[in-house]
Amino acid sequence: MGSPLTDADIIIVGAGVVGLFTALEAAHKGLTPLVLEERSPGAGASTRNAGVLHLIQPPPGKLRRRLALEGARLYRVLAGGIGYQVYETRLLILATTRLESLLLRPALIAIRRLAPGVKARIAGRREILRLEPEANPKVRSGIIVEGYGVVEPRHLISRLAREAEARGGIETGKKVTGIKCRGDKVIVEASDGSEYTARYAINAAGAGAEVLARQHGIRVRVELKPGTMEIYQDPKPRNILARIPTTSKTKGGAVIPWPQGTLYGPDLRESPGDPQPSPGAVAAKYRRLIRRDPRGLLERIEGLRTVAKPRDFHLIVPERCPRVVHLLGIESPGLTAAPALARLALSKLFG
Ligand SMILES: Cc1cc2nc3c(=O)[nH]c(=O)nc-3n(C[C@H](O)[C@H](O)[C@H](O)COP(=O)(O)OP(=O)(O)OC[C@H]3O[C@@H](n4cnc5c(N)ncnc54)[C@H](O)[C@@H]3O)c2cc1C
Repeated sequence: MGSPLTDADIIIVGAGVVGLFTALEAAHKGLTPLVLEERSPGAGASTRNAGVLHLIQPPPGKLRRRLALEGARLYRVLAGGIGYQVYETRLLILATTRLESLLLRPALIAIRRLAPGVKARIAGRREILRLEPEANPKVRSGIIVEGYGVVEPRHLISRLAREAEARGGIETGKKVTGIKCRGDKVIVEASDGSEYTARYAINAAGAGAEVLARQHGIRVRVELKPGTMEIYQDPKPRNILARIPTTSKTKGGAVIPWPQGTLYGPDLRESPGDPQPSPGAVAAKYRRLIRRDPRGLLERIEGLRTVAKPRDFHLIVPERCPRVVHLLGIESPGLTAAPALARLALSKLFG
């Protein structure tokens, strides 16, 4: 059974932010892309994230770092053509205790190492409260990091999907079960029995990518880790507010000004089986950042992180099927890196 498709040059598995940017980049190279998506565009991590274009990156030597720095730049370059908006803001890392204040200087040294060229400095309580009237009045001091961008992930995905549809096509409800190389062709099989033929394929299936990569003998293990975020009505900060981590409980997450409210999170759990935090627990964790209690829970968002071992992004062309690139471990800052990931994935096929 099958419905071989001959007019696509390249098949992209997964209509997440990475797959969709890859489709657009392929179209720029003169190729006709077809995106196959099991559910709907953005159904995976790409609409379940905090939308932050991160500047503070993983340590030197990681591919995640290089691609996120490049990706954050590309978002600004591509925004006009695709029609999404990057909201420009700052990150304020607050110290509300003496211990946290003492940790600011080492934190600043670490930031300068992890975010080369980024403007970051220590500021006193008065300046922090002037820049951010919604910050907790108990703030003693903090670090100001300039140049942070935030995108609204659902808006971004709808714009990217519209472009990808116009430049090739997206088929939804297509769960890809196998990718095979035959001579100079790639055959992509879906669970409903349909088959698609093209010259190349890219596996950008997020949490579903490992299963397809294993068929080509690739053995990068990927763990799925859940993260919860909540969107509240006012108070709405102007800046991204984060705490200086002192314990594992304060690690990760921030209060983020979102176009439709204030986003709290992500709150990290270790495995999908762990109990969900109670409503408001995510906000409670970040209460020390904000002057007033958050009001009016608008929405709770659940996302899955795809954490690879070794921990990095992995773009692999299998020896037995060299017309395919598998993308594995695309966890945070995967949204930030997506346009750069797209370019790198295609360069693995076309140099
Ligand atoms: C809670 C949370 C907060 C985050 N915050 C940030 C942030 O602020 N900044 C940042 O840079 N990054 C952040 N990230 C990371 C970022 O969201 C991801 O790295 C990014 O969205 C990954 O995109 P993707 O396209 O690789 O995967 P996905 O968006 O998961 O897309 C994969 C797609 O493939 C489809 N699919 C799966 N299997 C198949 C199959 N067999 N056949 C067909 N289709 C299939 C899925 O339905 C899905 O639509 C966060 C992640 C989480 C979970």
